[in-house]
Amino acid sequence: MLKLIDGKQLAQKRREEIKLAVEELKTQGITPGLAVILVGEDPASQVYVRNKEKACHEVGFYSEVHRLPADTSQEDLLNLIDRLNNDEKIHGLLVQLPVPKHIDEKAVIHAISPKKDVDGFLPENLGSLLIGEQAFEPCTPKGCIDLIKESGMEIAGKKAVVVGRSNIVGKPVAMMLLREHATVTICHSKTKNLKEELLAADIVVAAIGRANFITGDMIKDGAVVIDVGINRLPDGKMAGDVDRASLEGRDCWLTPVPGGVGPMTITMLMKNTLESATR
Ligand code: NDP
Repeated sequence: MLKLIDGKQLAQKRREEIKLAVEELKTQGITPGLAVILVGEDPASQVYVRNKEKACHEVGFYSEVHRLPADTSQEDLLNLIDRLNNDEKIHGLLVQLPVPKHIDEKAVIHAISPKKDVDGFLPENLGSLLIGEQAFEPCTPKGCIDLIKESGMEIAGKKAVVVGRSNIVGKPVAMMLLREHATVTICHSKTKNLKEELLAADIVVAAIGRANFITGDMIKDGAVVIDVGINRLPDGKMAGDVDRASLEGRDCWLTPVPGGVGPMTITMLMKNTLESATR
């Protein structure tokens, strides 16, 4: 039978743990603080930012949201980042992407202090992850690892196949699986024998961005499948990268979309901010 790994439930459990840790920190006079900057009125970004704000309140963080008009100059944005980098109340700082076209996204990300880069997007953090030093782990990959462990599967010694090699999901999740002692293969659009690679995998992480791309005939029995994809179908419904219907009745684990990786991502952002405040 196909077993679903409930990301919503796991995220709730992690938030309870974070909340308790925050209460403990507060007795020492420290309240973790997260600042989020949103430039412009992109509707999806507004939802993400609201959810982050809500999550902060839920776990007891101090939270600041800076909503700036779409025509904000890059200089003004960089000045705000600089101010927040030096604000002791703020332990985590992020700019919601994408930023309007007249702003250089790279310059903005690089302006954030690595000590407050709770998204884990900066080269300093990704480099530390690569060489096994203390780092803020990118939130979505961090959530993926937690979800795999929740299935009960021991990662060490398993064959893991990651489909996708982006800097925010594919590459870091592959590094983290390696750190957990999996044997890792990274596949991408130029991979010749994707089905063959997938059929050998005990763990599959799909981060492609193509609705229902991975089907049941590409997955072996007993595999744990983590579906990172968020795709909009023409009828407006949301679909993952994995075709769930073709896995029904199979002896596998799967994270549903929605309700799998998604809820874990913001929770891991809270976890990183807590970690930053604890440091
Ligand atoms: P990118 O578009 O940056 O990367 C997609 C990757 O998929 C690329 O490496 C690409 O290969 C690979 N790919 C594309 N087509 C194929 C194919 N036919 N066969 C094999 N590989 C292929 O996406 P992201 O990593 O940013 O995101 C991936 C998905 O995850 C998206 O749906 C996104 O919305 C979702 N997402 C969900 C999050 C969550 O919280 N749940 C957070 C972040 C992302 P190549 O490099 O060769 O082009």
